[in-house]
Amino acid sequence: MSRLPHKGAFTLIELLIVVAIISILALIAIPNLSLAKRRANQAKCASNLKAIAYALYAYRLDLDHYPLADGTAGEMESMGQTNPGSGPAANGSWDGVPRVLVNRRYLTSEEYLFCPTHRDNFKGDRLQKFRYAYNNSAADTGGVTGAPNNVERDSHDIWFCRCLWVPVDKSFNPAATDAIYPHGEQQDRENTLFSNSRVELRDGRADFLAAHP
Ligand SMILES: [Zn+2]
Repeated sequence: MSRLPHKGAFTLIELLIVVAIISILALIAIPNLSLAKRRANQAKCASNLKAIAYALYAYRLDLDHYPLADGTAGEMESMGQTNPGSGPAANGSWDGVPRVLVNRRYLTSEEYLFCPTHRDNFKGDRLQKFRYAYNNSAADTGGVTGAPNNVERDSHDIWFCRCLWVPVDKSFNPAATDAIYPHGEQQDRENTLFSNSRVELRDGRADFLAAHP
C-alpha cells in the first residue's frame, strides 16, 4: 500500500507556507493602503478648499461682500461666539466656513465644509466635526482693504481657509501640538486656501511660531 499523499492534495506544510506568504504580503500591502488613503484624503481636501474658494467668490459677486461667520468651527452654528473685530488671523481664534454657502447652494453639499481626515481621526462618540477654519477678517473689518489680515487683499501671505483644527478638550497651542495637522507623512501638514485662491499643503505650525515668537 502506498503512503504517498494523493496527487493534487495539499499537505499541512504546504498550507502553512501559503498562509505565511499571504501574511507577509498583507504586511507589505496594509501600510501602502493607508498611505494611499492619506494621499487621497489630502487631494480631496484640496479640492474641497478650491470649491469653497469658488463659492466664496460667487457669494461676493452676488452680495458684494464675503459671508459673515456663523460661529466657531464646530458642527453647529453658534452666533454668540462670533465677535466682530476679532478675526481668526488677528488673535488666534477662528470661525468655521459659513453654512450659508451650503444653504444658498453655492456649495452643493455640506461635505465640502469638512476635511475628510475628520472621519479617520474622530470616530463614533469621539466624532468632532470641525468645519474648515475661516478667516472672516474682511467681514469683521467691514471690508476695509488696508486692515491687517484682510482677505480682500489678494495675497499669498493671507490665509482664507485652513483644515487645521483643535479638539474641544484642548486649548489652542500649536507649539504643544494641541492643534491637529491632518496631512503629510508625519501628520504635520495642513491644506491652506490663500486669499489669492491658491491652495497649498504647508506646515502651519512653523508659520504660527514664526508669527508668534
Ligand atoms: Zn485637510
